[in-house]
Amino acid sequence: MFNHIFHGFPFSNPLLTTGVSPAIDIIRGSEVESDRGVLVNEFFETSVADVYAAGDCAEFRSPKEGQVRIEQLWYTGRMQGRVLAANLCGQREAYDRGIWFNSAKFFDIEYQTYGFVPSTFPDELHSFYWQHSGGKKFIRIVFRKNLRSVAGFNLLGFRFRHEVCEQWIREGKSVEYVIEHLPLANFDPEFYKQHEEEIVSKFNSENNSSLSIKARRGIFQKAASA
Ligand SMILES: Cc1cc2nc3c(=O)[nH]c(=O)nc-3n(C[C@H](O)[C@H](O)[C@H](O)COP(=O)(O)OP(=O)(O)OC[C@H]3O[C@@H](n4cnc5c(N)ncnc54)[C@H](O)[C@@H]3O)c2cc1C
Repeated sequence: MFNHIFHGFPFSNPLLTTGVSPAIDIIRGSEVESDRGVLVNEFFETSVADVYAAGDCAEFRSPKEGQVRIEQLWYTGRMQGRVLAANLCGQREAYDRGIWFNSAKFFDIEYQTYGFVPSTFPDELHSFYWQHSGGKKFIRIVFRKNLRSVAGFNLLGFRFRHEVCEQWIREGKSVEYVIEHLPLANFDPEFYKQHEEEIVSKFNSENNSSLSIKARRGIFQKAASA
């Protein structure tokens, strides 16, 4: 159960965890090298030719900076499986998880993290935070103070689209752009209460700005952007 909570890392709001461990007793003592998980490179090759590992049981020997050695997520499992399949089919492809993301549902609370949301902020980063009066929903948008470009999102009680947030981070969209286009990311089921106007209003009051929503969500998106 606490597996869910573990998945919140790195989260700016501290959470407890019991942690998770790969169940790899089957290869312990064999020629396949292991540490906490089965040791693999970015092609999911183990220390033994023609033996591969991917998903929860795999541990990267040399993870890229900022990435973890063991990725125990449904989404990364799917990505790893796709890359491993490509390699098995003769198409040499190195795994690259891209911009950090994480999401989970813990009972009725959903949370997501996209990009870089550190627990303590270095000087160059700042964040905008909005919390619903009911205390069960919040959004934190991390951005660079000088460039204003977004670096990460933490969401609790909201659903934001992974591909939209990732694109905003990759393209270095400004926090102002993101605030004005929040409905594009909103992935809550239809008829859920929307809070964009409240969020924009708080941002304006804190930043002495006069932003307004410039996009619409769901089926109205195309009409609005046409
Ligand atoms: C309680 C819980 C909550 C989670 N919540 C989330 C979440 O909210 N979001 C998220 O992204 N991820 C979540 N995860 C993680 C996600 O489920 C895993 O990352 C994902 O299922 C890993 O896929 P996998 O194929 O690597 O491993 P698995 O799904 O564990 O599949 C491994 C399979 O191998 C089989 N197997 C094991 N040993 C042998 C053997 N010796 N011989 C034959 N078969 C064997 C197992 O029975 C199993 O079917 C959660 C996990 C748990 C346990």
